[in-house]
Amino acid sequence: IFTSRFAPSPTGHIHLGNARTALFAFWAARQSGGRFIVRMEDTDQARSPAELARVLLEDLRWLGLGWDEGPDCGGPHGPYAQMERLPVYDDLLQRLVDTGHAYPCFCTADELSAERDAQRAAGKAPRYSGRCRALSAAEVARRLEGGEEATLRFAVPCSGTLSVDDLVWGERSYDLADLGDFVLRRSDGSPSFFFANAVDDALMGVNLVLRGEDHLSNTPRQILILQALGLPVPQYGHLPLLQGSDGQPLSKRNGAASLRELRSAGYLPAALRNYLGQLGHHYPATHWRSDAELIAEFSLARIGRAPAHFDREQLQYWQEQALQHLGLDELVAWLRPHLTLVPDAQISGFVAAIRGNMLLPADAVAWAEACFHPLGRSEKVRAELAENGAEFWQQAQTCYKEQPDDFRAWTRQLAQQSGRKGRALFHPLRLALTGREQGPELAQLLSFIPPEEVLRRLAPIFS
Ligand code: GLU
Repeated sequence: IFTSRFAPSPTGHIHLGNARTALFAFWAARQSGGRFIVRMEDTDQARSPAELARVLLEDLRWLGLGWDEGPDCGGPHGPYAQMERLPVYDDLLQRLVDTGHAYPCFCTADELSAERDAQRAAGKAPRYSGRCRALSAAEVARRLEGGEEATLRFAVPCSGTLSVDDLVWGERSYDLADLGDFVLRRSDGSPSFFFANAVDDALMGVNLVLRGEDHLSNTPRQILILQALGLPVPQYGHLPLLQGSDGQPLSKRNGAASLRELRSAGYLPAALRNYLGQLGHHYPATHWRSDAELIAEFSLARIGRAPAHFDREQLQYWQEQALQHLGLDELVAWLRPHLTLVPDAQISGFVAAIRGNMLLPADAVAWAEACFHPLGRSEKVRAELAENGAEFWQQAQTCYKEQPDDFRAWTRQLAQQSGRKGRALFHPLRLALTGREQGPELAQLLSFIPPEEVLRRLAPIFS
């Protein structure tokens, strides 16, 4: 049984990579009948306004996640925002000092950067030299009493290796001598990511940590902390990074957006769930899945190591699928706020007519405008209409006037009069009536355009 968690830092909106991590962690917990926790990692105070944390939870809920414990609903292992847990950290940090696993470091930022520069110049990987580890207890006491600022560092064993069995990457071995004594508490008293993140997982009973590949190298340090405190070590799985279709890191330029932006563009959460479920994880076969199926068929063993590529067109495919899986009533309820142009009595019929020709609410709005607003036409469309000749448009109007309510009848008559059929007949009509080359069944759309407007659109505006 997995207890898993999602631990966002509220420094911005959730991007797709993190949304995928959250979903996988949620599915793993649900599938095993375990708990799912959301924890706010807000120790970067300068960049973590409370409003962002609220928005972040709202976006996660919208995506379809539900959590058993979290900052908004509480739970037995709370509080669930790290800045409210400082006393918990202080106790554990003291324990690390008392047991010789941690020591105060008085090195200033300038000293540390000079040290790193010197190491780089000597062709070595930069890491803290451990200088303050050698300070005597008396000197430490004197400097602390004198009010000198200090961080607290972890005393990494000088030799030996640590191996980590990652769910995605398998076994990896780390030389402890390479790790360097890392910071546990910053000089302003706030806990470091390494520390707070690791101990919170243990204290909250988390036994499965799924997170981005960028955290892979943090894992040995976090395991050292947990071992020093005698706390349980969870299983870690690091998800390959999400890239754009161009192989570059995901960014606006290669089509990615935050959850928030996709949401406001009108993507459906079920489309995102189905799409994200296939990014870096493969289901036995590619087809639309209900939530129950997404959860039941999810498998940690099917998370791949290759970077996954986000592709806007694939998201659109899943959006199309999601639309097909909505009942008409659900679709109407979803679109209603956008379709202010469509009279209530006509909205169901209208949505039924256009549902196959839309992906996003903006498309539905464009069709509503095409039906319920006077039509504007580009030069190009005008020219194309004109090519059909005035006579054809005269015939079209006459036939329409005779049987305005029966699309089949008047177009059949027009076919006879004009000698046209198929595309030669219907393409100019579609263009004249909707301003577009393609779209929903013309017969259906037409029933939403008032007859005098139909006549206006069939009138030879090109004379
Ligand atoms: N707050 C970290 C992040 O947003 C969490 C990493 C983790 O899941 O352990 O990257």
